[in-house]
Amino acid sequence: MDRPTFALPPIPPRVHRVLLFVAMRSEADPIARALGATDGTARIGDAHIELLVPGADPVLGVDRLGPVHAASALARALCSAPPDLVVNMGTCGGFESQGLGIADLVVVRDAMFHDARVALDGFDALARAHTRLSPSESQLEAIAARTSARIGLASSGSSLDATADELALFRRTHTLAKDMELAALAVVCREAGVPLAALKGVTDLVDHHEPTHEAFLRNLTRTTDRIAQSAAAFFGQLV
Ligand code: SAH
Repeated sequence: MDRPTFALPPIPPRVHRVLLFVAMRSEADPIARALGATDGTARIGDAHIELLVPGADPVLGVDRLGPVHAASALARALCSAPPDLVVNMGTCGGFESQGLGIADLVVVRDAMFHDARVALDGFDALARAHTRLSPSESQLEAIAARTSARIGLASSGSSLDATADELALFRRTHTLAKDMELAALAVVCREAGVPLAALKGVTDLVDHHEPTHEAFLRNLTRTTDRIAQSAAAFFGQLV
């Protein structure tokens, strides 16, 4: 398996302020409810959790999902008051060949981009941005034990579908979760020196014949509910 090129700072012993990034409003609502959030903020122990959702595109009216909007929204949010920790929760494509099923959870050890191909020394690793996230191995294991999540690699790209080359890459790297935001958030966190942790829930199976968007829509509520039910246990291990 490829080793991460970059590493994010560890989670500090005391976390007071958390920025919780969720790409879609339909994902954010159940998570906010489960955390008892009012006006986009919640409290867990001593930690103040602030929800960050890029929201609707002013021209198209659809959610501003994907890596560009994720990076831009997070970079803007970090300018005002940097948090002690950024957390990303959301849906992902999972892999049947890795034993994952719909609504299963993945707690992410490392993230990369799978649609970054630059055949130039150095620039390839820069584009791939393979990054070890902040939770320690024991924190990952504690979260996995509490939430029945799998631990592993998440890979991000700008597309909901996957090419044959990308499917081969997922197999080679034992990718567990395919999303459209996490690796971009990891780049912003690295530049800002802010820790990052992520919990993903499977809405669709990338290596299954059913079209991704159909599975996604059918399983969205069930999967976000599962993420929401596990949110408090996830935060409980980190803050
Ligand atoms: N078209 C859908 C929304 C896009 S799904 C709709 O009609 O509402 C893509 C979102 O879910 C992204 O935020 C991404 O992070 C996540 N996601 C879920 N399954 C995915 C997959 N198989 N590949 C990439 N992203 C996925």
